[in-house]
Amino acid sequence: MKNTSAGRPGFADRCGVGVAVPRAFPRWTLEYGPMRPIRLRLLAVVLAAVGLAAASRTGTLWGDHGHRLAAAAAVQALPTEMPPFFRAAGDQLVWLDPDPDRWRDLDETKADPALNGANAPDHYVNFELTTAGSLKAPNRYAYVDSLRASGQTQLPGFLPFRIVELTQRLRTQFRLWRRMPEGPEKRFLEQRIINDAGVLGHYVTDGANPHHTTIHHNGWVGANPDSFPTDFRTHARFESVYVGAKITAEDVAPRMTTAPQVVAPLRDGVLGYLRATHAELRALYVLDKQERFSETTQGAAHRAFASGRLAAGATMLRDLWWTAWATSVPTDGPPSRR
Ligand SMILES: [Zn+2]
Repeated sequence: MKNTSAGRPGFADRCGVGVAVPRAFPRWTLEYGPMRPIRLRLLAVVLAAVGLAAASRTGTLWGDHGHRLAAAAAVQALPTEMPPFFRAAGDQLVWLDPDPDRWRDLDETKADPALNGANAPDHYVNFELTTAGSLKAPNRYAYVDSLRASGQTQLPGFLPFRIVELTQRLRTQFRLWRRMPEGPEKRFLEQRIINDAGVLGHYVTDGANPHHTTIHHNGWVGANPDSFPTDFRTHARFESVYVGAKITAEDVAPRMTTAPQVVAPLRDGVLGYLRATHAELRALYVLDKQERFSETTQGAAHRAFASGRLAAGATMLRDLWWTAWATSVPTDGPPSRR
């Protein structure tokens, strides 16, 4: 089913940068979802944090705060066996977690929709719209082919592929790093590793919020026997407004699992993580119905839920960083070439 609702203002993804829908946008782009209203208070935070010009009407969900919380918790929980340069990059990894939202500059999208159109579907997977076997496709292009072959005309999003791709990139770079002699180029590679690891954090953190796994991402759509909230702000009220006002690092870290795990097979582990998030969708809506997520929400269960989701994201991020390193030991032979 389409999750663009009549009367809602246009296109957006799960990370809050809405753009008006030019009529010339391709069909699949039109169906990603309604535009999320921009929250000026958060905008100010984001702009201050990243130094974007005021003309960049960028908003974030999980918010800058939630993304940074999850990344900071993951950094704190890194195994001591990780390379020292990586463990020393904690502040940079935290700063990078919201970075893919910074690429969603509205002025840039107005100039040309190419970047935003490519980036937006990386932030979510609408499991209700995936078709049997499509997520087992060898790559994102085969996934699209599989969906089309099944008659699915809506793009459910690329989030699982994005996470797998970036983890593989990270592992590849760690493998190179192990082989590389000391020198300036090894420092270049270390920066590349930190940048990709930080950006990976964004998508893993997105994947901890049930809103990023569903057609019900901006309020419940379609049949609604439980009378769940349908307001357009549902996602932002939880992920950004509530988390920004009420959740701190002290809420997140204690809820992480303690022992780092190697995620293997990688694809299965990523899909399992995202499906576990999706399984929390109803719980999220039940809480929002009981007491709306807002700056002033008092419910202890609300705090536990949001903190638990961020901790799940931080745990998975720590584990994917660890997986990329621990499974990057080179086998014999030169790197494969095309
Ligand atoms: Zn995102």
